[in-house]
Amino acid sequence: MRQVFSTFYLLVILILICQYSEVAAKESISSASVTNASGKLIFSNDGIKIETDGVAPGSDSKSEAVWSIKIQNLSDNSSEIIFSERDNKPVISSSDNGFVLSYNDLIYNGKRWDIDLNLIFSNNGDAFSVKGDIKNNVQDWVVVGFTGPVISGIKAELAGYPLIMPCGLGQKFTKAPSSKDSINKVSFKGGLAWKYDQATSSFFVKSDYPSRFATMQWCSFAGDKGGLYYGSHDKRHGSKHFIVSYKPSNNTLGVAFEHDLACAPGAQWQIPEQIIYPYKGSWHKGANLYRDWFKTSIDIQQVPEWLKNSSGWMLTIMKQQNNEVMWNYADLSELADISLERGLDIIGLFGWTIGGHDKFYPYYEPDPAMGGKEGLEKVLKEIKKKGVRSIIYANGQLIDQNGTDYWEKEGKRISVLKRDGMVDYQKWHKYYDAPARFHGMACLGCDEWYDIMLRLAIQANELGADGILYDQLAVTAPKFCYSPDHGHAVPAVVYAEDRYLFLRKISEYMKTINKDFVVMTEGLNDVEMESISMFHGYENGAYVPLIEEFSARLNGSAPTFIFPEMFKYTFPELITTTRNPAPVNNRLILNYATMYGLRSELETRYAADVRYLKENRIPVPEDYSNVISKPNIDLVTSEDPVGMKGYTKEVIDFQRENSGLLWRGNFNDDNGFSIKCNNNTVIAKSFVSGSRMGVVVWNTGKDKETFEVNVPGYTLEYATEPGKGTVNASEKISAESIRLLVWKKNNR
Ligand SMILES: [Zn+2]
Repeated sequence: MRQVFSTFYLLVILILICQYSEVAAKESISSASVTNASGKLIFSNDGIKIETDGVAPGSDSKSEAVWSIKIQNLSDNSSEIIFSERDNKPVISSSDNGFVLSYNDLIYNGKRWDIDLNLIFSNNGDAFSVKGDIKNNVQDWVVVGFTGPVISGIKAELAGYPLIMPCGLGQKFTKAPSSKDSINKVSFKGGLAWKYDQATSSFFVKSDYPSRFATMQWCSFAGDKGGLYYGSHDKRHGSKHFIVSYKPSNNTLGVAFEHDLACAPGAQWQIPEQIIYPYKGSWHKGANLYRDWFKTSIDIQQVPEWLKNSSGWMLTIMKQQNNEVMWNYADLSELADISLERGLDIIGLFGWTIGGHDKFYPYYEPDPAMGGKEGLEKVLKEIKKKGVRSIIYANGQLIDQNGTDYWEKEGKRISVLKRDGMVDYQKWHKYYDAPARFHGMACLGCDEWYDIMLRLAIQANELGADGILYDQLAVTAPKFCYSPDHGHAVPAVVYAEDRYLFLRKISEYMKTINKDFVVMTEGLNDVEMESISMFHGYENGAYVPLIEEFSARLNGSAPTFIFPEMFKYTFPELITTTRNPAPVNNRLILNYATMYGLRSELETRYAADVRYLKENRIPVPEDYSNVISKPNIDLVTSEDPVGMKGYTKEVIDFQRENSGLLWRGNFNDDNGFSIKCNNNTVIAKSFVSGSRMGVVVWNTGKDKETFEVNVPGYTLEYATEPGKGTVNASEKISAESIRLLVWKKNNR
C-alpha cells in the first residue's frame, strides 16, 4: 500500500514537472540552432550566427534584422510599410531536423497587422536551408517585398575570401571599399561597383536577378580552402536582388536576397529555399552545388548540331534609324564571303525591315527598296550554300509609339504600366538627322504580344533564316506592372516567369516546325538557357576587358575584376558570343574568347564599317558626324585590317579544328593540371571531353615566356597554335599568343 502511494505521488510530481517545463520552455526559448558537418547555425535575439571550424567563414550578427517585409497600399499604390524582424518576436518550435520561427500578426509601430510569417531552418545535406511562407490577410494591402534571411557579421577578409558574384559571366572582389578608396566605379563594361549608404554607414553592392547584372542565383565568399556559399534554390527563378554589404566600422560583410513578389490579400507566398553553405574546398564546390540543384529546376535547351559547330556571327545593321541603307539584301552574298574570310559562319540581320533599326517595332516587313521578300529569300538560300547561316532580328519587348498604327490600336494597352500610372518605355536616339524613337515596353505575358512574336519566328523560318533573335530579353531586370488590362493581378511581377514562359512556348512551337530553328536573345541569364540556344553577349565578361584591365587581374592590383570562370564552369554548355561593336577584333579579344570557350562576333553598323570591311579603309571621327553615340574607334584604328583579318581567321579555324574540346568540351577552369611559369602574364585553363583534356595556355604579355604544364594521370598527345599547326609543347610561347596542349588519360 505504501509503495502504491509512493508511485502515485511520483506520477503526480512527474506530470506537474512536465507541465511546468513545457510552459517554461514556451516562454523561455529565445534561441534555437541547427547543426551539421559544416557547422552550426544559431538564431537568437542577436540575429543569425554561423559557427564553423574556421576554414569556411562564419558569421556573427550584432542585432541586424534577419528579415523584413514590405507591403504596399492597393487603393492608390502609394503608401508602403516595412516590417522588421527587430520589432517582432517569434514563437520558436523544433521541427524534423531544425526549427521553425512563427510570427503571427506582424507588428509595425506598435500596431498589429494580419500578416503571418513562418521561417523553417533545417539541414539540406551539409548545408543550411531556410524556407517558409508569408500569409497576407490585410485587405487593401499587397506584400511586395521580402528580404532575408540576412547573414551579417561575416568574418571574411576579401583578400583571403574574395567575393564572387554572378555579374554577367562573373566578377570577383578582392578588396573591401574604404573612405579612401570607395571602389565606386569600374572601368570594365557591365561590372558592379560599391555604393555608400549614409543611413547605415556601410557600403553595398546590389544586383538584380535575372538580368545581365546577376545571371545566376548564387554568390560565394570563396577562399582557396573553403568558403561561404549563399544561393537561392528558387525553382521559379523569381525576381530578386543580391545585397552584399560591407561595414567598415567592424570590418564585416553581410549578404541577403531582396525578393520582389505580389502577394495579394488572402494569398500566401512561398519563400524559396535559401541555401547557406560553409564548405571546404575551392569555389567550384559552390558551382557544383548550384548546378546540381539547377538541373532539377529546368532542362537546358538541346542545341542543334549546326549551332554547336558554329564559330560566331557578323552582326549586320542593314538599314539604320535614319533610313541609311548599308546593305541591300543582294549584298548579303558579298557579306557572307567577307564573314567567311574572317571565319564567321552566321550573319545576324538587324535593321532588315522597312523601318530600319529601332524603328516601327513590332512591324517587321521586308523592304521592297532593299530587294523585297523574294530578294531576301533568294539571298538567304545563296549564303546557306556557302556555309553561312542567318538569324533574323526582332526586338522582344519594344513597341514604337510613333510611325505605325499599332501603338494606338494595341501597343499602348499591352505596355507595362508603372506604379505612377505612366507607361514604361525606352528611348533610342541614334542619329542627329532622325528623330528619337520612344518605345513602350510590352508586358510579355499578354497573348497579343506572344502571337506577334511567334508570327515573326514563323516568318523568319519561312524566309529561310535559321533562327530569330529576340533582342534584349536577358538584359533587363524584372519589374512591377500595374496595368489592369493584361490579365494578371495588379500589381504583378513581370519580365520574370512570364518572360521564361514566353520564350519557352515560342522555342517549343518552332521545334515542331523546324527542329534546327534556334531562338536567341541578348544578354545572359541561366534560366533562359531553357529556350535560348545562343546568347548575343551584352554583359560583363562578354565585353572583353582592355589588356590593362586583364593585366590588373593577373598581377593582383585590381580590387575587382571580371571572372568569366564563374558562369562558364557552372554551365559549360553555354553558347554565347563575345561583344565587340566593331568590324575588327584584336589578339586580346580572340585569345580571350578561345580561353573561355566563347564564340566570336564582329559588327557592321555604319557606312564606315562597310568601307572598312570591303576596302580596308580605316575610319576617321568625321565618318560618324551624324551619329549621336559615337563608336569608340580606338580598336579599329589600332589594328592592321589585313593582318587582323588573317589572325581572326586563324584563331577561329584553330577553335574549329579543336572544337571537340573548345566548343563542345567542358570548361574545367584550373582543375586537373598545374602550370609552372615565372611570370603572371601567363594564364591557363582546361577543357575536358571524354578521355581528353585540353589545356589552353595564353601569354598575355609582351615577351616570350617559358612554362611547364603537368597533368597527372595523362599523357601529352600534341600541342598546337593558331596558324602554325603542331608545335613543340615545351618551346617558349610568343607574346600575346595562345597554345593548346592536348592530353590523353592513361589506361589503368
Ligand atoms: Zn502587365
